[in-house]
Amino acid sequence: MNLTHIEHIGIAVKNLEESIPYYEKVLGLKCYSVEEVKDQKVKTAFFKVGQTKIELLESTDPEGPIGKFLEKKGEGVHHIAFAVNGLEEALSETEAKGIQLIDKTPRKGAEGLSIAFLHPKSTFGVLTELCEDKNV
Ligand code: ZN
Repeated sequence: MNLTHIEHIGIAVKNLEESIPYYEKVLGLKCYSVEEVKDQKVKTAFFKVGQTKIELLESTDPEGPIGKFLEKKGEGVHHIAFAVNGLEEALSETEAKGIQLIDKTPRKGAEGLSIAFLHPKSTFGVLTELCEDKNV
């Protein structure tokens, strides 16, 4: 597998409007995009720190993945996303090594990236996202 960098860190928040000012006014970052990802039942807000992004995730449905996460664990780090070259190959390689995949084939995430998640049961508790930007 060829990971190039940490693409983003996903953080679950109850409310984007309430949490964005912390990132802007305290950490001095700039929110450059707010986007709804309907099939993940989330609204996202993005910040950049060097090459890495912070992705805030607000649930739009209590039954969605972020809604359930907030209910169970509260606000906090939800997942870590690595940029990879060759997402399909990385997934089949990962599965062959006995790791449980949430997505066996890539799907579309925020910012037009192809993404897939590895199950935290197989990754020592860290929900892990692999993503590839096919637009570059
Ligand atoms: Zn993500």
